[in-house]
Amino acid sequence: MINQDSIVALATPSGAGAIAIIRISGSEAITIGNSVFKSIKNKDLTRQKTHTLHLGHIIDGSKTLDEVLVSVFKGPNSYTGENTIEISCHGSTYIQQQIIQLLLRRGCRMADAGEFTLRAFLNGKLDLSQAEAVADLISSDNEASHQIAMQQMRGGFSNEIAKLREELLNFASLIELELDFAEEDVEFADRTQFHELLNRIEFVLKRLIDSFAVGNVIKNGIPVAIVGEPNVGKSTLLNALLNEERAIVSDIAGTTRDTIEDELVIGGIGFRFIDTAGIRETKDVVESIGIKKTFEKIEQAQVVIFLFDGFRFQVSGSDYIVEIEKVKNKYPLKPILVVINKVDLLNANEIENINQKLETLNLKLLKISAKENIGVEELKNQLLSFVNTGALRNNETIVTNTRHYDSLLKALDEIQKVKFGLETNLSSDLIALDIREALYQFGLITGQVSNDELLGNIFANFCIGK
Ligand code: GDP
Ligand code: ZN
Repeated sequence: MINQDSIVALATPSGAGAIAIIRISGSEAITIGNSVFKSIKNKDLTRQKTHTLHLGHIIDGSKTLDEVLVSVFKGPNSYTGENTIEISCHGSTYIQQQIIQLLLRRGCRMADAGEFTLRAFLNGKLDLSQAEAVADLISSDNEASHQIAMQQMRGGFSNEIAKLREELLNFASLIELELDFAEEDVEFADRTQFHELLNRIEFVLKRLIDSFAVGNVIKNGIPVAIVGEPNVGKSTLLNALLNEERAIVSDIAGTTRDTIEDELVIGGIGFRFIDTAGIRETKDVVESIGIKKTFEKIEQAQVVIFLFDGFRFQVSGSDYIVEIEKVKNKYPLKPILVVINKVDLLNANEIENINQKLETLNLKLLKISAKENIGVEELKNQLLSFVNTGALRNNETIVTNTRHYDSLLKALDEIQKVKFGLETNLSSDLIALDIREALYQFGLITGQVSNDELLGNIFANFCIGK
């Protein structure tokens, strides 16, 4: 069996709370726990059934440290697959530290980052992509990324990969068998069936690879650039969207010279708003740096909002339209929203005037007042409509992890080589090589193939206690 020493860590966030949970895992976990615990019913923890809860006190010699509840989990029926106990104590940092120090003196050692989950993986309780999903789950701060992580943790995507790997492995062994009978020119592997399997694998790989684009934006937030001249109300709009006074609002033109980013969850989807300096012509050096940055931000953004001051739009509307068209031509596929702000200052005639000016653009047009909170809700709905969340709604598997994405790309490359080899009657030994490489990439995703360096990288990203 693998490393079975008993590790201890705080499982709840560090700092004071109402309660804290200290977790111990390892073959001696229950024995060590029992040595510091006095049950109110005089129970011996080592003789209790798995998944039971016991009230009592943590005792250090003659000192009582805390009244606690202890949960007992016996391996293999625990998160890590090992004997585990969880001590729910009162949340003061003093009590937490006293109990952990006592446990260290009784033979536990401090757990490394992610070590509980590492052990779960090593004991076959989770595969690698599920373990990584645990880390994603802990850090997900919006509904969409939470949903993806949950699905991945339940094994949605690695099950699919493991099944395909299994089928491919069967063919691989048949082809390798053919190599042993090389002189006799036999074919154990049915070429038509094999081709059909390769097509199926290719289809799945392509779908997963495509999903990465969606997964990545959902995990990191969808970048939205807000482009507009100084003083059109970018900061006010951000504040209205964020519903709090985060960005700086001021009356001096050019205040927002640098770019500010703010995150907001709308309809369960994370958006990253990037407040930019606008793209008007200028001789000011600082401002022209800002304009260059604006273009960079437009490039990176998934959606662009052009924000105008309705009052000024009546005067300079045609110049603005030229700017919008510049961006529209440069990025023809990027969704652009034209938003006229400060409509609270305009009368019906003036609004009609603006409508006419913008008619030719054929872009989605919204009229709002960021200050008076008019049309802001509609703007939010518009943003949501731009997001391709179809995959999410259909509960399809979405790849969010760069490491998986990388292996999927390489696996696809190998599968296509195998297909090409079959079509061009390449000799079986060369085909077998490509199959082996594809199998290796699949195995990297699920952890059926792993090495210490890979494991080290993955689990180092966890926090201690997970
Ligand atoms: P930014 O430079 O584009 O970020 O513009 P700010 O958000 O700092 O706003 C500039 C000024 O316009 C501030 O005095 C805001 O109060 C004002 N303002 C912003 N939105 C509106 C609006 O919808 N109506 C009115 N009347 N004033 C607004
Ligand atoms: Zn601003």
